[in-house]
Amino acid sequence: MSGVLAIAELRRGEDEQLAVRPGTYELIAAGRELAEQGAGPLAVAVIGPAADVPVDSVALDGVSEVIAVPSPEDRYEAHVWQAAAEALIEQRAPAVVLAGHTIDSLGFAAAVAARGRHGFASDVTAVAWTEHGAVAQRSAYGERLVAELDFPGKQTVVLLLRPGANAPAGGRHARANGGSPIATWLELDLAGRSRTERVELREAPIGEVDIAKADFLLSIGRGVGAADQVARMERLADALGATLAVSGPLVEAGWASRARKVGQSGRTVAPRVYLALGISGAAQHLGGMSRSQTIIAVNSDPRARIFDVAHYGAVADLFEVADELERQLG
Ligand code: FAD
Repeated sequence: MSGVLAIAELRRGEDEQLAVRPGTYELIAAGRELAEQGAGPLAVAVIGPAADVPVDSVALDGVSEVIAVPSPEDRYEAHVWQAAAEALIEQRAPAVVLAGHTIDSLGFAAAVAARGRHGFASDVTAVAWTEHGAVAQRSAYGERLVAELDFPGKQTVVLLLRPGANAPAGGRHARANGGSPIATWLELDLAGRSRTERVELREAPIGEVDIAKADFLLSIGRGVGAADQVARMERLADALGATLAVSGPLVEAGWASRARKVGQSGRTVAPRVYLALGISGAAQHLGGMSRSQTIIAVNSDPRARIFDVAHYGAVADLFEVADELERQLG
């Protein structure tokens, strides 16, 4: 068993074109490192309708092969992806299979690992190749503990990488380098595998605001303490030229709309400035904002996890900071 197989994730955009989801480039970056550490060459599998598979988008430096797997389904379908992944593992015998810790991969990867008796870990924050094979890191106890997992006796290990935990791969596309296309088309018998009946696809409404497009987010968490503070913080955001965003609990409490929620079950954002007031920095929140260019955190608890990703931090009462900002803005 040798090599790394990354399974790309695709989505149809508003223009109905299939595009590679950004998390795939994080898989490629992690796979490239594993390859450099001795795990063997990196292949990227792209499963999708034959006419549309965007093979060039993942043919980056460091990718030895793109395996295009035509699917009878127009969009992601868990059982088809499961069958494709099982066939790929059987044919290519990779030492490591990388997929995202996402709603798509959670739909098939655990089943693939269980049926094949492979090693498996979800929500992996880092992975390395050692003389004993793959070693994966996961967090436990509310991120206070980092566990290192190895997989003794497993020929293949399936790992789901937490989105946002790895910097996405850059590099030029192989064709832009003047290289020949490196896609291999792999015809698998996937017809009839789907067990899903698609009734209707309803995109989640963007709502009154698209926080993913904002350049400057003022993001508030449970630290604001009361619903009436949300309106005050929105006024402060307006005065700063920022857009208001929130952490999960404010949406659950009905204090803010879902459109403003940042995180794993909210929006993924990467603004120029992310000013976080009273947000602890739970993994589910960090997964949606840790790629922001400049993160400024205000929290009264010096041990808050948000300070691990913040470029600038103040251990302070958020209301004192808000008062001072309002005073300075007149
Ligand atoms: P808390 O963790 O309660 O933190 C409040 C912070 O405010 C504390 O650090 C405290 O020190 C600070 N504070 C209090 N008073 C003040 C003050 N006066 N001045 C300064 N600081 C103060 N969460 C998300 O945000 N987005 C998601 O998409 C998301 N998805 C989830 C999906 C799942 C499946 C699950 C299980 C959870 C999800 N969560 C999500 C919830 C997540 O686990 C956390 O509970 C949440 O992010 C915590 O929000 P918070 O930081 O606002 O609140």
